[in-house]
This record gives sequence, structure tokens and C-alpha cells, in this order.
Amino acid sequence: MTQDAIRIEGLRKTYLGQKGAPPKEALKGIDLSIPRGSVFGLLGPNGAGKSTLINILAGLVTKTSGKVTIWGFDQDANPRQSRAAIGVMPQELNLDPFFTPRGALEVQAGLYGVPKAERWSDEILEMVGLTDKAQAYARTLSGGMRRRLLLGKALVHRPNVLVLDEPTAGVDIELRQMLWENVRKLNAQGMTIILTTHYLEEAEEMCDEIGIINQGEVVARDSKDNLLGRLDAKTMVVHPDHPVTDLPAAPGVEAELRDDGAVMLRYKSRQVSAERVLAAVRAAGITIRDVKTEEADLEDVFLALTSKG
Ligand code: ADP
Ligand code: MG
Repeated sequence: MTQDAIRIEGLRKTYLGQKGAPPKEALKGIDLSIPRGSVFGLLGPNGAGKSTLINILAGLVTKTSGKVTIWGFDQDANPRQSRAAIGVMPQELNLDPFFTPRGALEVQAGLYGVPKAERWSDEILEMVGLTDKAQAYARTLSGGMRRRLLLGKALVHRPNVLVLDEPTAGVDIELRQMLWENVRKLNAQGMTIILTTHYLEEAEEMCDEIGIINQGEVVARDSKDNLLGRLDAKTMVVHPDHPVTDLPAAPGVEAELRDDGAVMLRYKSRQVSAERVLAAVRAAGITIRDVKTEEADLEDVFLALTSKG
């Protein structure tokens, strides 16, 4: 019916305060849809509500209100099917220290009702580079190895949607590369991927769709290309020698006369070169006394989007 991997409507979560703490409204009415087959990046600063959102998808946190549909299955009406469609690698390292990696995968497969004949523990161990640790106890694994095992556990039931919550926060380069290699491979095989990160460059490299959340609200939702296009906006400020009569005109350039007599020119540096903008300025008969460009970098725009309130 729906082509969305995930559809979220009016999702709210208020954590009730414990021991006299005030209640915390972590999600304030989220609407978000994530297309099938995409690598979707959920970005936001610490405390934005990313893990709350993901843990609701995973069925680990109960929502206060709203509707969540996973692979076409309403989470409340079809809890079993919706749960089977998604695998989550959580942010917290919550592994039972008494299991070996192979044991942990088998237990997880059992929890999801995967028949023995359909289990693929050995392939998973190979994929996450834990083949030679298959029989080691989890408590003897390094932090990086535990993270790999968490990824493996998320895959036992071959979910349609794989969710990774801050998979690369604090991990070394080698593990990061292994994670991204696997993400690319699984996505190429048709798995929809959702990942949270606060590394903008990572989202830029990995994701084709991006949502930015802050303080429990979606503040931006677009394809990466459109979002980068928005981030790509540059402003050139020209101080003319004489008062301006005609504003410069060129495709892809928005010109505006400022109160102080300067001309502001907005353009996208991926589409229009600074030289073209300057040519338009000269063509309008303006002699330039002084010129400077201002450029929003990714960080600035992200901050601008997430700093309200
Ligand atoms: P993020 O993953 O984006 O850093 P979280 O979803 O972890 O954000 O947290 C969102 C907000 O909800 C934060 O203010 C956090 O302190 C609060 N929060 C998260 N979990 C709980 C909880 N179990 N009880 C109370 N407040 C919580
Ligand atoms: Mg988090």
C-alpha cells in the first residue's frame, strides 16, 4: 500500500519524571516518512530526541501518542509484523556478558522466531569480522567488537529496515570503515538504512535523505542534494562607487539593494561562479569599490537550524 519504509505521524513522547523530576517532553509531534531503499540520516544535537525516536521504532520505548507504521504495518495493530521488519543497533552497549558472539546471535534469532534452517550466524560473524571470536565470551571483547556484535544482532532476522543509533560515535577509523562498508553492501542488497549521527560529514557521505531534529521537533527534512543546495547558498556584498540605479540580473542570482546602498547578491556556488556574479554586477553599470563574500558552511546552517529556543 505504502512505499514508505517508515511513516511517523504526530509522534509524541513525554518521559515521566522520576523521584520528583519534572516530566520531559522528548518528542513534540514528529511527522516523518522514510522512503524504502534509502539511506536516511537522522541528525540532531545531543538530547534532540534521536534515540527516543529510534527506541520507539524498535519497540524499546513506548510512545505517548501518535502513529508509527513500519513497512506498511501499524505498530499498534500489527506489533509482530512491524517488529519483524526492523532491526536496531542501539547506542548503548547492552550485551549479556555470558554469551559468546555466536550464542548471542542464536539467542537473538530465537527471540525473533527465525527457524534454525534460516539462520545465518556464520555469515553475520564473517560480515562483522568476528569469526575468530565466535566462541569468546562477550565480556572479553573490546568495545569495538561489542559494537560489531550489536550490528550482527540487528541482522539475524534479515530485517527490511536496519537502524543504527550513533554507530560511529567514539569508534576508531577501522571500525567506522567496516560499518560503512556493511551499510553500503546491505543497502545495495535492498535494505533500507536509518542512521543517527551528529557528524555532518558522515551524513553527507553516507545518506541520500536527511532529517534534522532538535528539541523533539523536525526542523528540516529533504534529500541530501536539496539540503546541500540550501547549505550552498552564498552571499556577495558589493559596495558600489556610485548609487545604484539598475540591479544586476543573472540566472540563479538574487539581487537586493540594502539601505546602506550596498548590493546583496545571493547565489549557489555549485551553480553560479563568483565570476558570473561579478560580470552581472559590471553589466549593470556598477563600479565596485569593495566586495566580499559570505558563505554558510554546513556547521553554521546546522547550528542555525538547531539553535532556536
Ligand atoms: P538524543 O539521542 O538525540 O541525544 P534522547 O532521545 O536520548 O536524545 O533524549 C531526548 C531527551 O529526553 C533528553 O532531554 C533526555 O535527557 C531525555 N530522556 C531520554 N531518555 C530518558 C528517560 N529514560 N527518562 C527521562 N528522560 C529521558
Ligand atoms: Mg542518542
